[in-house]
Order: sequence, then structure tokens, then C-alpha cells
Amino acid sequence: MKNYKLVLLKGDGIGPEIVDEAVKVLDKAADKFGFSVEYDEALLGGCAIDAVGVPLPDETVEKCKAADSVLLGAVGGPKWDTLPGNLRPEAGLLGIRGALGLFANLRPAVIFEPLKCASPLRDDIIGKALDIMVVRELTGGIYFGERGRKEVNGSSAAYDTEMYTVPEIERIARVAFEMAMNRNKKLTSVDKANVLESSRLWRETVLKVAEEYPEVELNHLYVDNCAMQLVRNPGQFDVIVTSNIFGDILSDEASMISGSIGMLASASLNENKAGLYEPIHGSAPDIAGQGIANPLATILSVAMMLKHSLDQPQAADAIENAVAQALEKYRTPDIYTEGTKKVTCKEMGDIVCSLL
Ligand code: NAD
Repeated sequence: MKNYKLVLLKGDGIGPEIVDEAVKVLDKAADKFGFSVEYDEALLGGCAIDAVGVPLPDETVEKCKAADSVLLGAVGGPKWDTLPGNLRPEAGLLGIRGALGLFANLRPAVIFEPLKCASPLRDDIIGKALDIMVVRELTGGIYFGERGRKEVNGSSAAYDTEMYTVPEIERIARVAFEMAMNRNKKLTSVDKANVLESSRLWRETVLKVAEEYPEVELNHLYVDNCAMQLVRNPGQFDVIVTSNIFGDILSDEASMISGSIGMLASASLNENKAGLYEPIHGSAPDIAGQGIANPLATILSVAMMLKHSLDQPQAADAIENAVAQALEKYRTPDIYTEGTKKVTCKEMGDIVCSLL
């Protein structure tokens, strides 16, 4: 029987509550689909600061590097907001991403039919369903390029540099093409090739990688047009691949189309595909400990893990179907609408398990 080693970084706020429910669902999926999961826990964020004085202890990095995959709840909270930047919980988050070499960020924007009314877009714009995957380059580009300040004609000036190498573009493009191959075989590469030299290299390189994937229908959009198309006709997209900065903005825009922060999962992958999976929301300190957090984003993160790191796509599909079914009748308070039954975090985890 296949056995997977998983590290849980429960983190702060609602992190422990939602990770516990996701583990429950993963164990049920393991039983049903004939694999087993071994768990280890490690500290990240505020809980690590309280325990050992730093947001990312070395032990956490070592454990995560040795694992098949990592599940993260969320980090941060007002208790640690006044600490200096390098000692804040968020520094732990950036640190673990860097230490694991997570260069590909996957952000699905999905609308489940029963939650269509939560979207800020009209029904006729959303169409029947929405399922977009944004693949964002995470370790290069302008966020990591040369930057500085200088004097220009007697005035202060500042600059940041967007730079990509061909291997950086090739590896993120391959992740996106592979993703498209497992979905509807449609890929949109987003750049600003009408203005930026780095975008022209991006486009040339994506076109070269495309030769390896003749079945995938590839198109290119300028980032301004893509931002517009996402709210004009989101149904035209399957997989979107783009640079760090464009992906930062477009993945937030795409995820807002779903309208429910407690529903959105994400993954960050490295060369070994041993990814880090987490909900896109934060630690929600305002509701922590009340048992009312929505665990579905974390449960859907586990489904992504099964698909992209653990090679158990059937178990992943089963979890996604169970979530869709649960939403027909049951809701945590954040997504509650009249005519459905309001349930707690733990009850939602139990319901998804029972529908698996
Ligand atoms: P947040 O996502 O934690 O909360 C925003 C709002 O959404 C709150 O009203 C919260 O109650 C609600 N919400 C979020 N997730 C929910 C869930 N699963 N179920 C029900 N309601 C949910 O964002 P914030 O308030 O801006 O940040 C709080 C803390 O989280 C901060 O310290 C921030 O730095 C941190 N943060 C961490 C991450 C991360 O760990 N990846 C991401 C974003 C923010």
C-alpha cells in the first residue's frame, strides 16, 4: 500500500481548526482509495515565535524538505503585528516558500453551482460554471530583480527590474502545459510583449515549449486585456500562465470572481512536485476558536495535493464532488444562505467525510 509522509503546519488563528478537518477528510479518502498517510507537525508563524522565538525554525524546514507534501493552515494575527518585519509570522511564510524552492503557484478560481450567488459577477456572465487555473511564476521577475534608489537630474528616483531567464520561463511554462493537458487542453499565456523586452522573451520561450505539447491550444493575451476578459467572459479561460507580478494581480482578480474567500485553495510546487498546499485566506483572528471557520478551502487544498503531488487523482475528484454535494444543503456561517442548514467547522468536516 502506498504510504505518504505529510507535514502539517497548522499555524495560527483558525489554522489548527481547519487543518484538523482537512486531515479527517484525507484519512477517509485514504481508507476509501487504498493508501495511507503518516503525519508530522511543525511550527510556522506566530506559534513558532511563541515557542522558539523565530517564525521559521530550522527543524520545520528540515521536516518539510523530507516530506512528500506539506499542508499549511494560516499564519499571523494581531499578537505579532508589532514585531519587526523579519520576525513576523509572514516572514516564516516567505522563508518556507524560498527554502522549498516553490517556483510555481497554482490558484484555481472555481465557482460551485450552489454558491453562484456569492459572485460579484452576473449569472449570465459566469455561465454554467467557472473553473480557471492561474499558474503564477513565484520566485523570479520584478519581485526579485535588481532595485534601488538614485538621483536623476537632481531628483530622487527609484527603480525595480523585471528579468526572466529562459530556464525560468521554460519550467513554469511546462507546469502550465502539463496542467492544461490534464484539463481542457487550453492555455493562455499572459504578458506585455507590446512594451516589455522581458515579455517578448517570455512569449518566444512559451512558443518554443508549446512545440512539446501540440495538443494544447495556446493563445497569448496582454495583461491589460486579460484583466478585462476575466470579468467580461471568464468562461473562455482554462489555464492561465504568467509572471510573478502579473500573476499576483490576476490570481486575486480571478479568485474574487468566486466571491467566497473560505472556499479557495492554492498550491505552490517545486521541481520535485512536492508542494505546499494552503487555503488562500488568512488566519481569521476575528473568528478563531469559535468553531465556525469554513474548512472547505483547506479540504480543497488537500484535493489539490492528491492531484498534483501524491498522484491520487480519483481521491481528489471524490473530495471535490463531496464538497459540491455538501454545499447543496450545508453551509458554514460565512457562506450561509436561507434555505440551507448552518453548520460548524467540525460538522462540515464530518459531512464531507460522510459524502465521500
Ligand atoms: P483573513 O483572510 O484572515 O480574513 C478576512 C475575513 O475573512 C475575516 O472576516 C475572516 O473572518 C474571514 N475569513 C477568512 N477565512 C475564513 C474562513 N475559512 N471561514 C470563515 N471566514 C473566513 O485576512 P486578514 O483579516 O486580512 O488577515 C488576518 C491575519 O492573517 C493577518 O495576520 C494576516 O497577515 C494573515 N494572513 C495570512 C495568510 C497566510 O497564512 N497565507 C494570508 C493572508 C493573511
